[in-house]
Amino acid sequence: MEFDTIAAISTALGEGAIGIVRLSGDDAIAIADRFYQGKSPLSEVLSHTIVYGYIVDPATNERVEEAMVSVMREPKTFTREHVVEINCHGGVVSVNRVLGLALKYGARLAEPGEFTKRAFLNGRIDLSQAEGVMDLIRAKTDRAMNVALNQVEGKLSKRVGILRQALLETVAHVEVNIDYPEYDAETMTHELLREKAGFVIGEIDKLLSTASQGKILREGLSTVIIGRPNVGKSSLLNSLVHENKAIVTDVPGTTRDVIEEYVNVRGVPLRLVDTAGIRETEDIVERIGVERSRQVLKEADLILLVLNYGEELSPEDEALFEAVENMNVIVIVNKTDIEQKIDLERVKQLADKRPLVTTSLLRDEGVEQLEQAISELFFEGELEGADVTYVSNTRHIALLEQAKATIQDAVAAIDMDVPIDLVQIDITRTWELLGEIIGESIQESLIDQLFAQFCLGK
Ligand code: GDP
Ligand code: ZN
Repeated sequence: MEFDTIAAISTALGEGAIGIVRLSGDDAIAIADRFYQGKSPLSEVLSHTIVYGYIVDPATNERVEEAMVSVMREPKTFTREHVVEINCHGGVVSVNRVLGLALKYGARLAEPGEFTKRAFLNGRIDLSQAEGVMDLIRAKTDRAMNVALNQVEGKLSKRVGILRQALLETVAHVEVNIDYPEYDAETMTHELLREKAGFVIGEIDKLLSTASQGKILREGLSTVIIGRPNVGKSSLLNSLVHENKAIVTDVPGTTRDVIEEYVNVRGVPLRLVDTAGIRETEDIVERIGVERSRQVLKEADLILLVLNYGEELSPEDEALFEAVENMNVIVIVNKTDIEQKIDLERVKQLADKRPLVTTSLLRDEGVEQLEQAISELFFEGELEGADVTYVSNTRHIALLEQAKATIQDAVAAIDMDVPIDLVQIDITRTWELLGEIIGESIQESLIDQLFAQFCLGK
């Protein structure tokens, strides 16, 4: 495929201080040579080497930047095109000036995600891998990063590929049966269909069972702190934010209009939803009543319910327990440094099987135990295992669910003795749906939409 040469600022993960201007396309090297001055022109340096030189605007002869420049010739590059990366260290202004020169001398500003899109269009990566790159950019914790990395490495693609292969074999078998009905007993075809469908459904179920954890890793756990006034909600919020690495959210290209506080608690990304909102809803029960507060809470993945060690349990406290029935709750009894008034036996009863932690936020006690409880709630057992493939992408989850429903339709049809060529329609459809995960049967517009979500420069 042929594309024009694109350029953008793409800063390496975790290296915010260094800016990289990246060019990709047939003329990438020729364009860079127009404003690069070094021992020899870039067109003469070996592929996949880094050279030192100056960035100079030929129109004014002005030295813009000292730079390390990598030259990577096609096809062994991220985009499978010629790629030049200019590493600048002079801060935002000089990075922008270098980009300006690239655009002035023949490159076009890349659209968001266009580098990755090219890698996809040039066949270097499939769609789920491309989405993995996107998740990697947005990854909020190390664990989330691993999920994304697996996807980039094609683990999900491989598993989906195996399922599609099984479906294809089934289709082929049915095809033979339709063309040569005397050759194969219909009952055998039915049995084979059931067996393969069972295998596919089982595998889809396995993938889907990882979905909620995968989604949590990717998007963060929406967390709401509730409790009566003065029990220590704000203190808890502050201690969670201050004790844990706050997660950087100023990734270019992500929306910033939602006020959220991200913290990484032992690998669990907590999204302390709308912190301003939490402050507003502090007296949640008193102000808006139990009914309404139920609504507010319904959307949370995790509730931190705070009680006061130094006060007797009130009817409001009991109402809070009622409001969060069947939700993920951690009960926190705070202010253990003052005289006990609370009936801990009753609290244990109310907490039932849910984790109960005592803290003195004032003395910074119990926060470790709380973090441990959060981590245990969401990382019990298998999630630690390196070999699990997590499905975390909403689009993938939806496609897997559709594929499962469709193949279940096929099984139901077999059970009802529906003619085999009709059953085959469902099987083919399942194959297509799974193909959409890796981008094999996907429409152009959807591709554009997906890549537009990428950050600039990737
Ligand atoms: P909120 O109204 O639930 O948000 O409670 P705050 O976090 O604003 O805390 C209310 C008051 O309790 C503040 O004066 C805090 O300093 C104090 N406080 C918070 N945690 C503790 C604790 O563990 N022990 C004691 N003695 N005071 C605390
Ligand atoms: Zn408060």
